[in-house]
Amino acid sequence: MESAGEPEAGGLDRRDFLRKSLPVPLTLLALLRAGEPEAEKKAEGDASKPPAYKASEHNYAMGIDTSRCIGCGRCAEACKAENDVPREPFYFRTWIERYVVQTNGETVVSSPNGGIAGFPPVNETGIVRTFFVPKLCNQCANPPCVQVCPVGATFTTQDGVVLVDQEYCIGCRYCIQACPYGARFLHPVTHTAEKCTFCYHRLIKGLVPACVEVCPTQARIFGELKARSSPLTRFMRLHEIQVLKPHLNTEPRVYYANLDGEVR
Ligand code: SF4
Ligand code: SF4
Repeated sequence: MESAGEPEAGGLDRRDFLRKSLPVPLTLLALLRAGEPEAEKKAEGDASKPPAYKASEHNYAMGIDTSRCIGCGRCAEACKAENDVPREPFYFRTWIERYVVQTNGETVVSSPNGGIAGFPPVNETGIVRTFFVPKLCNQCANPPCVQVCPVGATFTTQDGVVLVDQEYCIGCRYCIQACPYGARFLHPVTHTAEKCTFCYHRLIKGLVPACVEVCPTQARIFGELKARSSPLTRFMRLHEIQVLKPHLNTEPRVYYANLDGEVR
C-alpha cells in the first residue's frame, strides 16, 4: 500500500496543488483543528466559509456486511474517482480483499488492483469457501497514527473521523508505519499522508461516502453511531458485530457483520 517517491507536480508548488486538489477544504480543516464550538461559529458567520456544519452534533461510523459483498469493486472505483486517488495500483483509500479457504487448510488472500475491476474466477476444486472483505481506514477511536504524528497533522474530529491536514503533514511516514491496517499511503505528488476520510467533504453536505452510495448490495452502511434510529444503529442491532484486530485496542469505528474467522 505504501508508495515510493514520485516526481513533483509540474509547475505547481505544494500549497497550490493542495488548494486545487484537496476534497476537504483547507478552511474547514483549519476550523476543525482549531477546536469547536468557536470554529462552528466562524463557519456560520462567514458566507465564504463552508456551510454551518456542526461536527459536535454527529458521531459517524461505518458498517460492513461481508455476506453481502459480491466483490464487484464499484466502491473502490467510486472512491478513486471521488477523491482523486492516484490510479497506480499502490494507492487506495478503500479496497476489496478476496479470501479463498482451501481444503488443504491454507487461505489465499488477494486484491488485484484493489478489486476495482472485480476478481478472476476461482477453480472450485479444493476450495472450501470464498468471500470478500472491503477494507478502509477504520477511523479508530484510539488511533496509533494520531499518536505518532510528530507535528499534529493527523487529528480526530469531534464527529469521529481521523483526518490529515496536508498543510501540516511533513511526509515523515510515521503514521503509515503505525497504522496496523495498512490504510495509509504517501501521495506521490504532494508527498503527504493520505487515507479514507469517510468522504468528509460529502458528510458536511449531508451526503454519505461515495463507496456507500454506489454499493449495489448495500454491503456498506453509514450513519450516526448513537442515533436512536439510523441505518447504522439498525445494522448494529440486527447483527453480531466484530472489528478488525480487536486485540490491538485501536477501537475501530468500522464495524463488520458476518466476518469470517479467517479474516486478518
Ligand atoms: Fe489511523 Fe490506521 Fe486507525 Fe485509520 S485505521 S485511524 S489510519 S490507525
Ligand atoms: Fe462489495 Fe459493495 Fe464494494 Fe461491490 S460495491 S465490492 S458489493 S462493498
